[in-house]
Order: sequence, then C-alpha cells, then structure tokens
Amino acid sequence: MTLTFLGTGTSHGVPMIACSCPTCTSTDPRDVRTNASVLISVGGKNILIDCGRDFHQQAVKHRLDRVDHVLLTHTHFDHVAGIDDLRVFTSRRRESIPVFGRQDHLAYLRAYIYHYLFDPKVQKGGGIADIDLVALNGRFLLEGVLIEPLPVYHGSMEILGYKFGNCAYLSDVSKIPNATLQKLYGLDVLILGALRHTKHPTHFNISQALAVVSELEPKRSYFTHICHDVLHEQVEKDFSDPDSPYCSSLEVHLAYDGLKLAL
Ligand SMILES: [Zn+2]
Ligand SMILES: [Zn+2]
Ligand SMILES: [Zn+2]
Repeated sequence: MTLTFLGTGTSHGVPMIACSCPTCTSTDPRDVRTNASVLISVGGKNILIDCGRDFHQQAVKHRLDRVDHVLLTHTHFDHVAGIDDLRVFTSRRRESIPVFGRQDHLAYLRAYIYHYLFDPKVQKGGGIADIDLVALNGRFLLEGVLIEPLPVYHGSMEILGYKFGNCAYLSDVSKIPNATLQKLYGLDVLILGALRHTKHPTHFNISQALAVVSELEPKRSYFTHICHDVLHEQVEKDFSDPDSPYCSSLEVHLAYDGLKLAL
C-alpha cells in the first residue's frame, strides 16, 4: 500500500491569491500547497480521500489513470469541489464511482452542490460524473483495507477523519473526541491537520498538533492542511531544534504535495 499526498494546503492554497509573503514567494517546491487530499494505492486500485477544488491539477500532475473509491471528510469546497472532474474516470470505467461519507454530508451534496448529477432530466453520458453516494455506517473493508470513519470536530461541526490499516488521516480538526482518540494509540502513521503558528477556531495550529502527537506517540507523524504562514524548511528544522518550542523527540514532519509513503 502506498499513500501519496496529492495536496497539503488549506482552502486558500499556497501561494495564496494576492499575497507576497515569504512562503507565497518561496522557490522551495514544498511551499506550493494545493487543497488537502491523499491517494491510497493498493493492489492497482486507488482510494481517494477528498476531492477538492485542485483535484484537476493534482490528477494531471500525478498522471492519475483511475479512481476506484472516494472517502469524504466533509463538504467544504476544498474537499468536494473536484467531484465533477471524476467524470473522466466514470465515463472510462462505464460504471459509477462510490463516494463514501456521512449521511448528512451526502444529503447536502445531493441537494445543494451536485444536484445536477442526480436529476433524472439531465442526460447521462460522459458529460456528468456517475457517482454513487454511500452513507457510512462503521468500519468496512475496501480493497482488502479496513477503513474506519473517525468522528472529529472541525470547530463546532462534527466531521470525519479515517483510519486505514494502522494509519490515520485527520485533516480538518480542532478537537478529537475521546472515543476517537482511544482508536489512535499505537499508529504507524498519523496524518494530522496543523494549519499555522497561531490559534484558529476550526483547525489545530502546529503546537496543538504536536501536543496530540506527544499524547499518541505514533511511529511517524505528518502534518497537512497547512496555510501560507508556514515556511516548510524552517518548521521542518524546528522539529529537531532543541531551542525551538516545536522540538519533538518523535518523528514529525510537514507533509508536502507529491510526498509518497510506503505503508
Ligand atoms: Zn502568503
Ligand atoms: Zn473544512
Ligand atoms: Zn479544509
């Protein structure tokens, strides 16, 4: 099983529109961040977690030639706005792609964002994505991988992260309920949202994410959903600098677009 970070940025993306800060003008390719999404590849099949506004460029860059399943964390545009572009894959496969999520999230997609995909008056064919909305109900097997939806708080909204195998992906999170936390001890890989240096009402900042890592002690941790406050090279150094408040005795990294992990 391999995991590819298709995107590691927050909703604005990095560089952000109309910004000339050091990160937005950095020449380090790790400071270019598209909307947060990962691709899990197993046995020649591809499971996508989230399909945001930047999915088109992510798919082109990685020469993605199939998507077999999509897992959604929530319905913010940086996580669902690319679903329309799945039509390339559904017309090629000639079968629908299952899109898994919370029942209320899927109902919102059907009613407000992607109503045209489900309108019987709209003609089918290559023009629209043929997706199947599948409401999650606990753990399930996908391509031989045990997937467990994990409720987390994104501000006051309850959304999902996912555990797959002995890894977990929690991209938009500001609080982890105790029942979810109990399922995250002993992980091989924890992928956790860490937006910026200062606090934010709906996302962990880097210090809060590091506190979760210290509590859970996963073998490796990667931070994602990062905004333009964060210069990759600097913060990556800080994780091993004894003089930095970010110094950690555990293996912690900032993820970057295109990073691949063998799991
Ligand atoms: Zn900037
Ligand atoms: Zn969000
Ligand atoms: Zn987001």
